[in-house]
Amino acid sequence: MSDSKNHTDPSRRAFLASAAIAASVAVVGLRPRTASAAGEKLPHLSESDPLAKSLGYRANASAVDRKKFPTYKPGDRCGMCRFFLGTPGEKAGYAGCQIYAGYSVNADGWCASFNARS
Ligand code: SF4
Repeated sequence: MSDSKNHTDPSRRAFLASAAIAASVAVVGLRPRTASAAGEKLPHLSESDPLAKSLGYRANASAVDRKKFPTYKPGDRCGMCRFFLGTPGEKAGYAGCQIYAGYSVNADGWCASFNARS
């Protein structure tokens, strides 16, 4: 009888441990989104930020280096991106971005993580 109890305890412990980890990940994962949603209060993302630079972020999409980032298509901009946390289709102003937690991006900007809203 105690054998079956011993067999279930490790799996139960493992389940509880993985549930705790999953809950922690969910909480950590949600925090930047919530903070980014208030984009107007966040500092503007700098084009010289290391991640922004590596992804070719430009506050004005017309300044994108098209040779270095050939996926850019005229008309693509943050306001049309699924990661933009402002009003979909927005043409001006700043709002949070799921890629750059803690910063706001220009609705008229662009980076290589652009993913068009469907
Ligand atoms: S991920 Fe989308 S919203 Fe964020 S900076 Fe890049 S293009 Fe703009």
